[in-house]
Amino acid sequence: MPLTTYWLEHAWLDTNVEPGVALEVSSEGRIEAVRTGVETPPPGAVVLRGLTIPGLANAHSHAFHRALRGTVQVGSGTFWTWREVMYTVAQRLTPDSYFALARAVYAEMALAGITSVGEFHYLHHAPGGSAYADPNAMGEALIAAAAEAGIRITLLDTAYLSAGFGAAPEQHQLRFTDGTAEKWAERVSALKERDGVRIGAAIHSVRAVPADQLSTVARWAQDRQAPLHVHLSEQTAENEACLAAHGRTPTQLLADHGVLGARTTGVHNTHMTEGDIALIGGSSTGTCMCPTTERDLADGIGPAVALQRAGSPLSLGSDSHAVIDLLEEARAMELNERLRTRTRGHWTAAALLRAATADGHAALGWADAGTLEQGALADFTTITLDSVRTAGPVPRLAAETAVFAATAADVHHVVVGGRAVVRDGAHVSVPDVGQALADAIAALRS
Ligand SMILES: [Zn+2]
Repeated sequence: MPLTTYWLEHAWLDTNVEPGVALEVSSEGRIEAVRTGVETPPPGAVVLRGLTIPGLANAHSHAFHRALRGTVQVGSGTFWTWREVMYTVAQRLTPDSYFALARAVYAEMALAGITSVGEFHYLHHAPGGSAYADPNAMGEALIAAAAEAGIRITLLDTAYLSAGFGAAPEQHQLRFTDGTAEKWAERVSALKERDGVRIGAAIHSVRAVPADQLSTVARWAQDRQAPLHVHLSEQTAENEACLAAHGRTPTQLLADHGVLGARTTGVHNTHMTEGDIALIGGSSTGTCMCPTTERDLADGIGPAVALQRAGSPLSLGSDSHAVIDLLEEARAMELNERLRTRTRGHWTAAALLRAATADGHAALGWADAGTLEQGALADFTTITLDSVRTAGPVPRLAAETAVFAATAADVHHVVVGGRAVVRDGAHVSVPDVGQALADAIAALRS
């Protein structure tokens, strides 16, 4: 089969940075061979200068929150006041306008080196709650948007059935609910996986899915070996309400209904008891940290170190898209911990990159992505080492430079499945991503 050779000036190969690496990529978009010690580019090779890492996985996204950027930075408040503003944007979206917005947002992600997104999708129905002619019109709009932007998507179709413990959905939540978990499962079962697309499940939170319906969602994911994500203990108010309603923490409630396990990821896992941490780690349930959102919404700093030590793999997400920059998410996890403990070095740059690549992909059901090795999907991202932020690295410490100083603006090349998605800092198929974002957001305001 015809091969394309990429010559990488520096490549991060899981634990260390290697100079001069040749990647052979098949026309099917997989890495056929990795050769180290290749000092000069072989004839005909595509030359990628800088540091090449596996493609980044954005394990937690709500694409439409991108429309809120900036507008929610005025005034004071909490997560709960922010949520009211978020709901007003949710009311305006249609399948067409959501497609346009998500296409631009996913193109922004591609420019940031993100090759896979986990879209935690709960905006299912028309305003007022009636189904679209295709009940999955909104989910299909997101899938089409990811395809146009050139990135992989795991559509984490989300069950969102109640406003709180024992409370029916409120007016602005009618678009989210299918009525029951059974009806949710029926709708989601009509979504089909295809090239670049995985279908997973999500439980919005223990607030939004009644306890007696949690196992229906868990079973759907179990039957398909699909990823299952859940917002977990982002807010202390959720913990208090769950204790009052069920006499146990949200984590315990999920454990009691068969939700935890190695294909499950708790998103945030911020306010956890020691017992919660043991349940998450002991069941190999993952933890998706979203540090830029957690700090933006004044959520608190989750116990990521303790969770990982207990056995929970870590992934990273840009969630509300206050910024879209997985390198920032990665370093923020370490830097938050430094501020809290007044000590340094909780994670190495390699460990942070692993959360942003291999472990993030695993959380999204892409076990064969996120590494530069033979047989893996040919998804990779090249970070320049000669910008004003990154110039002058010690070559063997290029990963430290990338994680602790580079930004999304330093991503120059992105390849997904062997196809160039970003070349020399420009998106290949979305010519002006800034304009696409501006147009899509302006359409929601008019
Ligand atoms: Zn979220």
